[in-house]
Amino acid sequence: MIAQCCVQHTKCGPLQAPRLPTRVIDVHERESATVHLHISDPDGEFADYLTLSYCWGGEQPIQTLRRNIQNLRNNISLVELPQTLQDAVQTTRLLGYRYLWVDVLCIVQDDPDDKSREIAMMAETYHNSTVTIVAPNSKTVNEGYLTQRKQPPFFRMPVILPDGEVGEVGIGHPCQWAHFSWELMPLSKKAWTFQESLLARRIIYYGPYEVLYCCQTLGFIRLLPSYIQYGDNEIASLSDICCSKDKLECWSEIVRQYTLRHFTFPNDRPYAIVGIASALEEAWAQKYVFGAWSDRFLEVLTWFNVAGVPFHSSLQKSDRAPSWSGYQ
Ligand SMILES: [Zn+2]
Repeated sequence: MIAQCCVQHTKCGPLQAPRLPTRVIDVHERESATVHLHISDPDGEFADYLTLSYCWGGEQPIQTLRRNIQNLRNNISLVELPQTLQDAVQTTRLLGYRYLWVDVLCIVQDDPDDKSREIAMMAETYHNSTVTIVAPNSKTVNEGYLTQRKQPPFFRMPVILPDGEVGEVGIGHPCQWAHFSWELMPLSKKAWTFQESLLARRIIYYGPYEVLYCCQTLGFIRLLPSYIQYGDNEIASLSDICCSKDKLECWSEIVRQYTLRHFTFPNDRPYAIVGIASALEEAWAQKYVFGAWSDRFLEVLTWFNVAGVPFHSSLQKSDRAPSWSGYQ
């Protein structure tokens, strides 16, 4: 499905391999017990890579620091990685790719210059990656996502089969288990993961009940579904949003969903959405100005706090956005 998407779907991105981020994990061969941190050629190195969107959920057992980066470039034992990262390595290998980008290992966590440089490029890193693995239901990096999926909560009833035997069918409403209930999952509460999912060209989504594939052309598709769905998918892809007729309504919904998310650092609020704003600037041919849009500027100024999210005093004092901006 990914190969078909890369070759046949013009909306889903270029056929050429993307430029690698500054660092990626080289996942080695399928049976290898190790991986290593690969430093990309600064003059430009081009290859497919995967990205991971996940919850840290506290202190990380292994991270790239100035003092251990050389060791990690030589060798990382797979068993040293927390379960979610082990699962991501496994997924990358099984899909036939060599490189994986994960923030905790590909950004030097105790180097402020490296952090600010790499964070500024994160929207591009996710947008350029061949596939983004999304692990929405793991509260911490230790939980992993390649676990047994739960059975959807169907109401089961007996039926008489054509051969006269008694069989069983299940009926359920997808809001109880399907992907659009992901607003309730741990990952969907994190502000930075909002644009990671929305900017991704292709997503493999490991939900608690089902595994989904999503690209800009097909939208969300169930992999190996065990039931028939009636009705449409309900999550819009970025290309749907870009084409939406009422841009202001669409932007309001993006802001509403974004505002409900949790910020570890409140000052990140204007920044964790700029990747989406940049994509829309290009698609809508409009200028984005601190949360407003140039051709609907007066209307956007009438924003109000519908989500009931409290204002942060640190932001009220901030001089990074004008007083009329919703970022204050
Ligand atoms: Zn596609």
